[in-house]
Amino acid sequence: MAGIHHVTAIAGQATRNYEFYTRTLGLRFVKKTVNFDDPGTYHFYYGDETGHPGTILTFFPWEHAAPGRGGVGQTQQTAFRVPASSLGYWTHRFVEKSVAHQPPEKRFGEWLLSFTDPDGISLALVGVAGAEQEKAWSTGEVPAEHAIRGFQGVTLLIEDAGRTGAILSDVLGFERIGQEGSIIRFRAPETGEGAVVDIYEAKGFLPGRLGRGSVHHIAFRAADDAEQAEMVRKLTQNHAMRPTEQKDRNYFRSVYFREPGGILFEIATDIPGFAVDEPVATLGQALKLPDFLEPQRKAIEGVLPSLERVA
Ligand code: ZN
Repeated sequence: MAGIHHVTAIAGQATRNYEFYTRTLGLRFVKKTVNFDDPGTYHFYYGDETGHPGTILTFFPWEHAAPGRGGVGQTQQTAFRVPASSLGYWTHRFVEKSVAHQPPEKRFGEWLLSFTDPDGISLALVGVAGAEQEKAWSTGEVPAEHAIRGFQGVTLLIEDAGRTGAILSDVLGFERIGQEGSIIRFRAPETGEGAVVDIYEAKGFLPGRLGRGSVHHIAFRAADDAEQAEMVRKLTQNHAMRPTEQKDRNYFRSVYFREPGGILFEIATDIPGFAVDEPVATLGQALKLPDFLEPQRKAIEGVLPSLERVA
């Protein structure tokens, strides 16, 4: 099963991030945990009911992060799928909620509505024919018929598409399916969530700078450890990449490498998933910590900001 597993971005204020993604966009808050490498800060996961791979957008909310700058070597946009007939609903919603957005445009035959989150992350909704048949999660804020159905995909801004494209095709299970202007489209064979990677080939643009409002990394799917190990072998032998050793992220196991275009890629296993440490019915309600951080729970809870709504 190829495709995007999750996308991780840098946010500013935690409460604002939580409100925007759960209320304005209607995603499910599937996990409240901390950054395992920096446990004094949160790591938030949003997705569908169970946080299925291909639906998961995650954030490091860093209250004092300096703003990032878009540019070459960065993820330019992250797009979600909605039913084609729901774009009108969403346009109204964005006007009503004062969400900055652009007029709809057509890309590869589908309508796309670009917008930005409160930290300036570039997002889009893509109207997908038939998506209304797919299972939807509703928080009550956004009716199920219009709800987001996971990712459409990401657009990467890269100087030269060649070597990145080769890794997408040879290692990560995507196929090059077409080009429109400067955008080269890669697609995973199974259509559905997280199946699209667009490379926007931008020669001579300024490099981006990571910060608040930037995507930190893109994670791709591996079914299990064996498939991940095979991908690592190909990266090393065929593409001169040097992925990290495997890291246990509790909900998946990951390796990381910086692809030739400069973007941090991760390969994450589909297993074990978000129900490993709490029931699906109550995902996201309690602060979950990996075993090695449990002894520090009191101290960690003491420094994390509260998500209680300020009236
Ligand atoms: Zn990740």
